[in-house]
Amino acid sequence: MASELNAEMLKIALKSIDDFAARELPDSLLVELDERDEFPEELVRQMSSGDGLGIQLLFVPFEYGGMGGGALDVYRICERMAAIDLGLATSELATFLGSDPIRVGGTEAQKREYMGRIAAEGILFAYGATEAEAGSDLGALKTVAEPVSDNGAITGYRISGAKQWISNGGVADMYTILALAPGGPSWFVVDAGAEGFTHGDAEDKHGIRLSNTAALFLNDVYVDADRLIGGVEGQGLVQAQQVFGYTRLMVAAFGLGAGWEALDRAIAYSRKRIQAGGPLAEKEGYTHKLIVPHAVALEAARAAIEETAERIDAGEGALNVEGAVAKYLATEAGDAAADAALQAHGGYGYTHDYVVEKIKRDVRITRIYEGTSEIMEMTVARGRWQDHLKSAGDHYHARARELEALHDQHPEVGADVAALAAHALAELLERCRNARLTRHQHILLRLGALIAQVEGAGALARRAQRAADKQLDAKAARSLRAPALAAAARVYARGAALTVATEAVRLVAGADGGELGDLEQRLGTASINRAQGGLLADMQAVSDALYARRRR
Ligand SMILES: Cc1cc2nc3c(=O)[nH]c(=O)nc-3n(C[C@H](O)[C@H](O)[C@H](O)COP(=O)(O)OP(=O)(O)OC[C@H]3O[C@@H](n4cnc5c(N)ncnc54)[C@H](O)[C@@H]3O)c2cc1C
Repeated sequence: MASELNAEMLKIALKSIDDFAARELPDSLLVELDERDEFPEELVRQMSSGDGLGIQLLFVPFEYGGMGGGALDVYRICERMAAIDLGLATSELATFLGSDPIRVGGTEAQKREYMGRIAAEGILFAYGATEAEAGSDLGALKTVAEPVSDNGAITGYRISGAKQWISNGGVADMYTILALAPGGPSWFVVDAGAEGFTHGDAEDKHGIRLSNTAALFLNDVYVDADRLIGGVEGQGLVQAQQVFGYTRLMVAAFGLGAGWEALDRAIAYSRKRIQAGGPLAEKEGYTHKLIVPHAVALEAARAAIEETAERIDAGEGALNVEGAVAKYLATEAGDAAADAALQAHGGYGYTHDYVVEKIKRDVRITRIYEGTSEIMEMTVARGRWQDHLKSAGDHYHARARELEALHDQHPEVGADVAALAAHALAELLERCRNARLTRHQHILLRLGALIAQVEGAGALARRAQRAADKQLDAKAARSLRAPALAAAARVYARGAALTVATEAVRLVAGADGGELGDLEQRLGTASINRAQGGLLADMQAVSDALYARRRR
């Protein structure tokens, strides 16, 4: 999806969001709404209306009245929205999730009508896929769509069933509902207020309390045949799959934005908070545990997000595995960063008054919705396992060789250590193949986690190189300067390599995968151990850069 937005327009859009937040969304209001568990409908509608912020225009294709943002634009916008409030961001996301089946699979008339209405009227959508007993496994859905015929021609459908955990469920104007038609799972567009269509009370949630989440009940709800998205039954799961790479990037950006916001608040706090005679910001035991590793992990996730977004915009397809890597890295890093930021505020962090406490509860959802972290691990592992088999075990050795070539050009970006991690991963995958270890689901999913980390290390090394060569996309975030990014890349690559080497032993020995024999030699454990040299100096360099930089 090529973008119609240039870098200047994106900058203006980001600034409008900041201005809107500064004017309308002070911390005190967000904390109060969170405590009252209130969906601020007026604010949300203002954000997606032409005479308000008009955020929806960024997502709607140009030909239907929007500004036609691409994946990179959408990630930057989602990151910024999440930094403000993840509940409000979720409400916006729901409209784009809800209209995505139309965007990718709708007929021209459907796209024109519904995308056009989102752009012009700012209507809110909800995306109704999940059911009480069909969550991660959508194929188990029970909601049915029975065709209604006249003289042998299908004129409409009667939909019956229930949906669970639907964002905007109680407040949307239109809904896309996944239901089982005779030809297979299919998406239908249903109006709020259609006869037989009701919703439950707003759920009382752990976090994102500014977002409305509700169950939906459909009792023989009639829709005309032209409400079947794409006009052909059985395309529903394919349409859902087609957008995962892209929609998962949105949630990845949520993890990134919320995690960075929490960390930025902890950095500001630690500058002023004096303990044992000096500011916390000057204490290594504090910065190197609660700040630096989280900034590094978030930047690795950013690198994976940006690379995937650029490739989607260049037309490389859905990139589901890459989208899953990005979502996994960013949401796990965002959640961990928010937890560390709460800790970094001590007892104050544990109170409602300090926004980090809210962020910590809010960001937790990103590891659950749009596919849980465990489903991401599975998606990544299965996808790359195929690549390993198809390449006769060379897939990650090949990635490692590319990183070695990068190291020759840019010895400062940690690409040599990222290459050690990739070689070790290739060896571990091969050992798993020989010993048939992926028959254990635990092993398969742990491989998914390791793969994500190794890919994050490669992406961050490449991002550090591009920053050094001034080759970052004009729209890319400028979160850290090139030397700090290189230090972060070295820190992250060391961690990735060491994790693969130690986890490999744990998994192979733990699953009785045969004699360890020369495994450690094949993994390159000795080189990986030696590569840890310089870690503390690099962490200090990252810390110095974080404390020297201005916010945003
Ligand atoms: C606040 C909120 C908003 C949401 N918004 C929407 C929305 O707008 N539209 C929508 O359609 N859905 C929405 N969801 C639903 C969300 O996408 C699902 O909750 C999520 O996909 C997980 O499904 P589940 O809750 O049924 O959990 P389950 O699928 O039952 O999973 C439970 C646990 O088991 C793990 N697990 C599941 N399957 C496997 C497996 N095969 N192997 C190993 N482990 C497994 C999971 O990772 C998880 O840890 C929302 C949920 C919440 C909480």
